Amino acid sequence: MPAGSGSAPRQSSAARREPDAAFVLDVRSLGRRPGTMREVHRTVSTVTRIGLDLVGVPVGADVVLDLQQQAVSEGVLVTGTVTAPIEGECSRCLEPFTDEVNVRITELFAYPDSTTEQTTDDDDSYRMVDDTIDLEPVIIDVIGIELPLQPLCTPDCAGLCAECGVRMAIAGSDHSHEILDPRWAGLAKFATASPGSGSPDEGAATAADQSAELASNRTEEK
Ligand SMILES: [Zn+2]
Ligand SMILES: [Zn+2]
Repeated sequence: MPAGSGSAPRQSSAARREPDAAFVLDVRSLGRRPGTMREVHRTVSTVTRIGLDLVGVPVGADVVLDLQQQAVSEGVLVTGTVTAPIEGECSRCLEPFTDEVNVRITELFAYPDSTTEQTTDDDDSYRMVDDTIDLEPVIIDVIGIELPLQPLCTPDCAGLCAECGVRMAIAGSDHSHEILDPRWAGLAKFATASPGSGSPDEGAATAADQSAELASNRTEEK
């Protein structure tokens, strides 16, 4: 078998995973004694875009990992936060914007020979391979859940004018259009019509009229 071209030859599987670099953590030095902890503070430059159509972490972005690895009986528990810059397009005003996403991770990577590993489906848990943990699929999942399906440049983005399409942030709050639709004119007339019809007074007046009528009938009988 020919030697690898790299200056530090390793077993092929280990070389492929690049132990303890980028999103991969080498957990051999952590050991297996439950309770042993190790901090991981690392900045990783992304080589692929992470995210949704309208918003995501761009290629070449610095993803900051502030994590703790803890040996537990079934494997290694990884907890902490992941912070990454995001770029997106506002779903209301269509302007590009940048922001930051901050997500929490709590994920158990089961030892290959553990009960958890043997009793769960591959789809239900992340795997430990050759004493390494690949955080990338976890980070892609948690960031994907955190990102908004309808991203906004600002929480109160006023969007576009429904009449002319100008961005309301540029047009200003006093931007408006005269509404010339004749149907609106008709509604305005209706709204200013005097109240009174249907008022309680009508019933009282009718009763008064009836008693007056009765009175006049009696007069006629005499
Ligand atoms: Zn906007
Ligand atoms: Zn307008």
